[in-house]
Amino acid sequence: MFRNFIGGAWLEGPGVARNINPSDTRDLVGEYAQADADQARQAIAAAEVAFPAWSLSTPQQRFDILDAVGAEVLARRAELGDLLAREEGKTLPEAIGEVVRAGNIFKYFAGEALRPGGEAMPSVRPGVGVEITREPLGVVGIITPWNFPIAIPAWKIAPALAYGNCVVFKPAELVPGSAWALAEILSRSGLPQGVFNLVMGRGQEVGATLLEDPRVAAITFTGSVATGQKVAAACVARMAKFQLEMGGKNPMIVLDDADLDVAVNCAVNSGFFSTGQRCTASSRLIVTDGIHDRFMLAMVERMKSLTVDDARKPGTDIGPVVDQTQLERDRAYVDLAQAEGGRLVLGGEAIAHSVDGQPGFYMSPALITDSTPGMRINREEVFGPVVSVQRARDYEHALALANDTPFGLASGIATTSLKYATHFKRHAQAGMVMVNLPTAGVDYHVPFGGRKGSSWGAREQGRHAAEFYTTLKTSYTHA
Ligand code: NAP
Repeated sequence: MFRNFIGGAWLEGPGVARNINPSDTRDLVGEYAQADADQARQAIAAAEVAFPAWSLSTPQQRFDILDAVGAEVLARRAELGDLLAREEGKTLPEAIGEVVRAGNIFKYFAGEALRPGGEAMPSVRPGVGVEITREPLGVVGIITPWNFPIAIPAWKIAPALAYGNCVVFKPAELVPGSAWALAEILSRSGLPQGVFNLVMGRGQEVGATLLEDPRVAAITFTGSVATGQKVAAACVARMAKFQLEMGGKNPMIVLDDADLDVAVNCAVNSGFFSTGQRCTASSRLIVTDGIHDRFMLAMVERMKSLTVDDARKPGTDIGPVVDQTQLERDRAYVDLAQAEGGRLVLGGEAIAHSVDGQPGFYMSPALITDSTPGMRINREEVFGPVVSVQRARDYEHALALANDTPFGLASGIATTSLKYATHFKRHAQAGMVMVNLPTAGVDYHVPFGGRKGSSWGAREQGRHAAEFYTTLKTSYTHA
């Protein structure tokens, strides 16, 4: 039994949660203590007690701890990557890549702990000086989704601690293993007790307790729009600071002048790798008339070469969908797209077994053409290996289609034209823009986030994270 970490102690919970390997549903990955609202409040209380001392800890102390955590995560990349692939279903190389990213994030924010300088400036009044400094917020509640079980927790926990906050972390129920492994590393890192707490449990109970408790100064949330709206409503009601990273319906434009190989690589990588379960997935392809038929042929050829199989098996390109519910949702969108007039070119079938006969939640990647902007497949996030294609007359038409979405996370273009690339970078309505690159590949040291219905509040990652995890203080001194 893997337990919760509260106030420096490992505690059983009133419930037990199991995580199942989606590549082989006979494989029980682990049994995890499931906290309730009382334990969540216990964790908040521990964090509140720890905050005054931790907020005054030296930058060197925070650097040493976060740097060592990052080093251990990096050193254990193979083992942690294997666990992640086993519980979430992304392929082993992708899972190891995610662990490396998490380790690098801790090392990056170790450096940031040393960096937050203030500003000094003269007052408009004689003899008065003004200083602007950043201070930590207090207890930060961290609520994360299942699709990046270690990188998203890392990009929230590391800056929260680096800037002097205490943490209560509630991971997604489907993926407690990676969260627990990260918590175990943090538990041995030298953090004073209560500074970091792990409470695994149901979103509607443990998550909701974090949202409502007045001792939690701020909530950082990544997940669906529906839950994000609940987070926003609860935080606004008690004037708590909050940050939301939510869904996407990310477009990728392929222009007539695109390099065909680059375009297909970007489309396949962003649309189907990680089983399409990335908020930055290119789930909408917008292809101009002059390259449309050549692109579709090349795309179908490439898709036929993809191997859908056990996430941890060498040679697998696409692992399983995370669970039965998500698989049914993905399948339902394929049917809906056809009912609305789209044409299924390839894939879209649920596959009950791996190549070796293991029972799992597999699905062949689906490509749907002849889709139009009003269809639900082009407006709603599927979060699976399902990609739709729209035709565009020219660049201007393609740009208009790309921006015609309630979301605004990532947006991509494949083109060899500097003119169009430059115009697109300025006019794409998204927080992240990719030119001749997959929309799903991002760095760990620069801002991450979007606009419109995808994100709310300050950016994550990089030095801009300080805007969320700290508050400004302006001090006036009369000499
Ligand atoms: P979700 O269902 O919204 O869950 C996210 C987290 O919220 C989970 O820990 C969940 O707990 C918790 N939760 C559920 N109900 C809650 C409540 N009433 N109060 C407080 N917390 C609650 O999302 P998901 O299915 O895990 O993740 C997929 C979504 O995340 C997709 O929409 C994807 O686009 C988005 N995402 C966005 C980004 C980004 O950076 N923009 C990155 C990755 C994923 P339980 O697990 O117990 O339900």
